[in-house]
Parts: sequence; structure tokens; C-alpha cells
Amino acid sequence: MEEFDVIVVGGGPAGLAAAITAKRNGMNTLVIERGEFPGAKNVMGGVLYTEPTSRLIPDFWQQAPLERPVIEQRYALLEGDNAFTAGYRSPAWADPPYNAHTVLRAKFDRWLAKKAEEEGVLIINETVVEDLLYKPDGGVIGVSTGRAEGDVRGKVVILAEGVNALIAKKAGLHTQLGPEHVAVAVKEIISLPREKIEDRFCLEPGQGATIELLGDATAGMVGTAFIYTNQDSLSVGIGCLMSEMLKIQANANDLLERLKAHPFVRKLIEGGETKEYLGHLIPEGGYKAIPKMYRQGVLVVGDAAMLVNGLHREGSNLAMSSGMVAGEVAAGAVNSHDLSEQSMKLYQDRLKETYVLKDLYKYRNTAH
Ligand code: FAD
Repeated sequence: MEEFDVIVVGGGPAGLAAAITAKRNGMNTLVIERGEFPGAKNVMGGVLYTEPTSRLIPDFWQQAPLERPVIEQRYALLEGDNAFTAGYRSPAWADPPYNAHTVLRAKFDRWLAKKAEEEGVLIINETVVEDLLYKPDGGVIGVSTGRAEGDVRGKVVILAEGVNALIAKKAGLHTQLGPEHVAVAVKEIISLPREKIEDRFCLEPGQGATIELLGDATAGMVGTAFIYTNQDSLSVGIGCLMSEMLKIQANANDLLERLKAHPFVRKLIEGGETKEYLGHLIPEGGYKAIPKMYRQGVLVVGDAAMLVNGLHREGSNLAMSSGMVAGEVAAGAVNSHDLSEQSMKLYQDRLKETYVLKDLYKYRNTAH
């Protein structure tokens, strides 16, 4: 059985960033992804900030399949049929390398996976990791998959499996998420001709805008709704804390339909055709809900470690940044032949020095 230095479970932004970084540090690296291809089932609003992403791929904004650079962020507070709006538009955001872009994850993750493969990472798709493999003394020595003869040995396993974190839970690193720790989100991709998008959002050709909708948009629940401009479609979605939804027996699909029927929103999406409907959970527990992120031979990154800053609409960048730190720490551990829990703790220590844990700590008492 071939032994890898690093096995990454999950080919989302966290896992791919971890794999690219481990490979750059000389590790023989494998990514195992359950989807038909990385990104096939992944969901995000989605706004991708330039700075954290360019730490992984410096000129990604020139190569990646991005939708539109965001030159304006608006907010709309809905009350009944009314809307109170405010926004911020910056010419600087319209200049390369841009502040942020809208993205569609099926395209973006697939591109990032190709970059990883070009750097020598092996990616196996359509394969579900079912558990970690243990030595009799409890040490982790790889993963088992749903395939026949599907055990794969690895020195370090990085769990980048997203919000459900089933393997992390089995490994005792994660507890069952409570309804106060996750938001239920649904999103539609609604096609519209690009000129119509630019007209309705007052944009120059190719430019993009975002609108965050609050108040009645989420029926007053903790959460957010959004409209983001893509090249020739709009991403329209809503996500609310599950505990709040349970209180009023709300249904995410009904909330989205209600939002689309609001006069402010209806005008923006008029004539559009729904091309895709997506649903996903978002970890929303903030700093206090972060589980243990390491144990002997194992690191947990991205959504699987609850690294989402809901206040700032950030998750994919925290995923990539945590993945990069984990990739480095994994390589250091393999090179020094020290896969102990103490060696893996360096991941958490280093993450504390980055914006990932600093920001989450700063907002630790805020409802996400
Ligand atoms: P994921 O992207 O979920 O990737 C996990 C991967 O692991 C998937 O490819 C999955 O198929 C694979 N996998 C899972 N289990 C297994 C297994 N057992 N075996 C093999 N493979 C497995 N973030 C932003 O930055 N900006 C936004 O605007 C934004 N908007 C959002 C809007 C919505 C509606 C949602 C749901 C999320 C949003 N986020 C946003 C958050 C962002 O999408 C996540 O934080 C980010 O995707 C986390 O990346 P990840 O790699 O940790 O997990």
C-alpha cells in the first residue's frame, strides 16, 4: 500500500490550499474528494477577497474563472414593502488586483484543483473517506474509503471535509452541532443578460456589486440575505440561524420565495430564469464554537473547524488561510519525524497569529 506524507480529506478551498502548501513543502500529497470533481457540490454566496487568496496563488485574479470584481457593497434594510438602502462604492476597488470578486464555486474550486494538480498534488474524486485508520496504540496512520481495498496510508491527515465534519466527529475532535451553531442557507443562480445586470446595478461593463439584505429580509431572524452579481446571472440567497428558524417554524425555501417577491428584490431579478438551486449549512458558532483542531497525526481546517466569520461574510478565505497553515505544519511534522499531538498543536498556535483566529476572537461575543 502506497504511503503518502499528507492525505487531505475534501477538495474545497481549505483542502486544496492545504494540499498545495504541503506539496510546495516537499510532501507527497493526496486529496480525496467525494464529489464528481472539486466544487461539484460546494456552495458559497459568494464573495472572494483578493488578499488572502493571492497569498496562495499570487496572480489568481488574472487566471481564475471569476465572475465580477466587486466595486460596490450595498445594504438594504427591508421593512414591509419598504427598503432603506445604503452603500459604499470605491473606484479603487475597480482597479487590479481588485478588493474582491464574486465567484461560482463549481468553477472556482475546479480551477483551484487543477492548479493543485499542476503542482503535483494527486486528487482522487468520487471517493468518500469513511474514517481514519488507527494503529493498535491509537495513532492515526491514514484513512479508509468507501472503495474496495480503499485504505490509504498517510503520515498526517488534514480534515477539510466542510461543515458536517463527520470524520472529525468520529475522531472525537468535533461534537454534534447544535441549532444555535449553524445557519441553514439556500441560494438560486438566476440568469440575466449582462447588460441588464449592469443597467440595474449601475455598473460599467464587467463590474460587479453586492447587496446584503437585513431586517424583514430574514423575518427579523439572525442571518442575512444577499444578491450578488455574476457575469450573466445573479446569486440570490438567504441564510438564518437554525435555532431561530425552529422558533418560528420557518422554512428556508419559503423565506427565499418571500424575499424574491419583495418589491425591492423583484425589480432586480425581473425576467431572470432560475438555473440552479443550492442548499448548504454555514457554521455560525464563532470563536466559542471552534472545536479542538488537532490530535496526533491529524489537523482540522476550514468549515470543519468552524472557521467562519459570518459578520464579514468570510469563510472561503479563512478556509484557505487555515489550510495553508496546516499544510506547512504538516510538512514540518513529517520532516522532523514528529507526528505527536504536541507537534500538531503548532497549527493552532500559528493560526492564533493570523487574522483567522484574531478576527474570530475579536467578535467572540457577537451574534453571527
Ligand atoms: P467546503 O467548501 O464545504 O469543502 C468541503 C469538501 O469536502 C467538499 O468538496 C466535499 O465534497 C468534501 N467532503 C466532505 N466530506 C467528505 C468525505 N467524507 N470524503 C471526501 N470528501 C469529502 N464564504 C465567503 O468567503 N464568502 C461568501 O460570500 C460566502 N457566502 C456563503 C453563502 C452560503 C449560502 C454558504 C453556504 C456559505 C458561504 N460562505 C462564504 C462560506 C464558504 O462557502 C465556506 O466557508 C467555505 O466553502 C469553506 O471551505 P471548506 O473547504 O472548509 O469546505
